This record gives sequence, structure tokens and C-alpha cells, in this order.
Amino acid sequence: MKTLVDQHGRVVRDLRISVTPRCNFRCTYCDPLGMGHRDPFGTVSVRDVAYVVDAAVGLGITSVRFTGGEPLLRKELPEMIALAKTAKVEDIAITTNATLLKRRLPELLDAGLHRVNISLDAVDEGVFKQATGGGSSKPVWEGIDELLTRGLHPVKLNAVVMRGVNDSEITKLAALTQTLPLHVRFIEYMHLNNADSEQYQKSFVPGWEIRALVEQEFGALEAVPTDPSAPARLFKVPGWIGAVGFINPVSEPFCGLCSRMRLTSDAKLRPCLLNDREFDLRPALENAEPVTAIQEMFLVAAHRKVASGITTPTQRARTMVAIGG
Ligand code: SAM
Ligand code: SF4
Repeated sequence: MKTLVDQHGRVVRDLRISVTPRCNFRCTYCDPLGMGHRDPFGTVSVRDVAYVVDAAVGLGITSVRFTGGEPLLRKELPEMIALAKTAKVEDIAITTNATLLKRRLPELLDAGLHRVNISLDAVDEGVFKQATGGGSSKPVWEGIDELLTRGLHPVKLNAVVMRGVNDSEITKLAALTQTLPLHVRFIEYMHLNNADSEQYQKSFVPGWEIRALVEQEFGALEAVPTDPSAPARLFKVPGWIGAVGFINPVSEPFCGLCSRMRLTSDAKLRPCLLNDREFDLRPALENAEPVTAIQEMFLVAAHRKVASGITTPTQRARTMVAIGG
């Protein structure tokens, strides 16, 4: 089996595939201008994804996460999951806002989905609405309940924390882990929405501050052993069922452990979330030998993967909703 190694010696094992730039939410940190409501549907077809996944597996990629925009808006998602299963991808996951999860979960599981990560930025309905640009948490909770009922434990929830938006929710979100088998993971807000730099600095809450608030409320957290290459550091309030996690890409960058590449919904290979360099896969997808041509592009892209991305405020060519989270 081949492996894909970048020029800094990191092995690329994970591929994130954005299946659409569209979204039914407009979270402040991701899509403040509501581009997800306006951009055309993603252009990657099921056929494109089939070739890319085959090429990736042939290069040793073992994990594929479908994302967006909101991946559940893409009706062909089960077909894409099924072909990842056929290609023998070991770990097939989605990241979703879960608004459509309850209804779509059976077809996704039948297709071969293993894991689901859900975004949930607030417990309070008013704060949730503000954070998501008008969304409702009711269908999200129906999706979470469906996963719990089916025993798909632990359910991983992601919350991006912004001062003045949802920092008041930190302890309420952490408290969910007292009785439910959830991993509530607090993510530091990254400058991926082209926010005004001063506004960004004001809204940014470092992971250590989030942790301090949790410990102030519930006492000292105990570490849960975790895969050192995973971005989240996990902890527990002693005796509680679930866990809280901290993903600190800004205050504690983990670029040295990065094992990822991304495919955007318009078929660009993006070696680093925090760097705008992208490689157009369209010519390779139309090549007479697409899998070989795509693999060559993967090698080129891996060779150009930067050692670390830009975490200070900078104008990005696209916001997070269009990159794929
Ligand atoms: N719509 C799906 C969802 O919300 O889970 C998938 C796409 S979303 C872009 C994927 C992840 O990116 C979410 O967990 C979201 O919280 C995270 N994200 C988006 N913008 C971010 C930012 N500026 N900083 C940190 N995380 C961000
Ligand atoms: Fe949509 Fe997810 Fe971005 Fe929120 S974080 S706007 S749900 S893509």
C-alpha cells in the first residue's frame, strides 16, 4: 500500500470532501454573508467523488469525512457514502448541523456511514438562533436523540465559541455531559469568515479561558486518554457520563500533526484549511485515466502543503462555508 507523505514528513490519511457550498444556516463564524443561501449547488458529482475516493484510497487515505456547507442538503450523499464503503474506506463520517439528520439517518447508515459530528453552539434557543443566523435547535436535538437512541455513542458535538455571541453557553453545553454520552468539543474561533480584524480579536475566546470557565463551575477536569494525533484534548468532570473537549487551533496550533487534505465542492484539492492554495482537479477528472491523473495531483498538492497555516486575521479567498469544514 502506498502512502501520501507531504514535504514535511506528515502522512496524509484523512480526506474531507465538501459536497455542497450551500447551507440552511448562516453561522456568524462561518458564513456571515449568507453565501450558503446563494451559491449554486456544488459541482462535484457522484462520479467525481468516486474517482477521488478511489485515488485517495490507493494513496493510503483511510478516513473520509463528508462536509459542506451542509452535506445533508445534497440528495446524493448516501450514494457517495456507499461508494466510499465499496472503496474500503475504514472510517466514513459526516459533519452536519443535523437539521435534516433524523429523516436522513436511516439511508446514511444503510449506505455505510460510521460516525456523525454535529454542530451545536448553544442550549438556549435565543442564543442558538443568533449564532446560526436564525436557525432552530429543535430538529438538531431530534437528530441527536436519534443517534443516541440507535446507540451511536459517543455523539460528538462541536461548539465554536464567540465572545458576546455564545460564551454565555459554555457551562450549559458542558453540563449536557453530566447525563448524556456526548463529547462536547469547544472549538476556538478561527478567522475564516473575513471578519473585521478588530472585531475578530474581540470575539475570540482562547481555549484555556473556556476550560477555566468549565472548571470554575464544575471543579477540576480529569484528562481522558486520547489519540495524540487527534485535534481535541478530552476531559471529564469526575463521575459524569460524557466528556468535554478542547480544539485550540489558534492558541495551540496542531499543524505539526496534520494528516488532512480537502476537496472543495467545486473540485479543488486544498492541502491546508488555513492556506488559500488550491489545485484544480477538473482536468484530472476529465482525463482518460482519471484515477491516475488525480493521484498525480494529490502528490503535487501534498508536496505543496505548507508547514503551518495562517491563524492571524487575513483576507481569505473563500469563507469556511465554501471551503468545507
Ligand atoms: N454544516 C456542517 C456543520 O455545521 O457541522 C458542516 C460544515 S461546517 C463548516 C464544519 C465545522 O466547521 C463545524 O463544526 C463548524 O463549527 C466549524 N467552523 C466553521 N467556521 C469556523 C470558524 N470560523 N472557526 C472554527 N470552526 C469553524
Ligand atoms: Fe452552515 Fe455549518 Fe457553516 Fe453553520 S457552520 S453556516 S451550519 S456550514
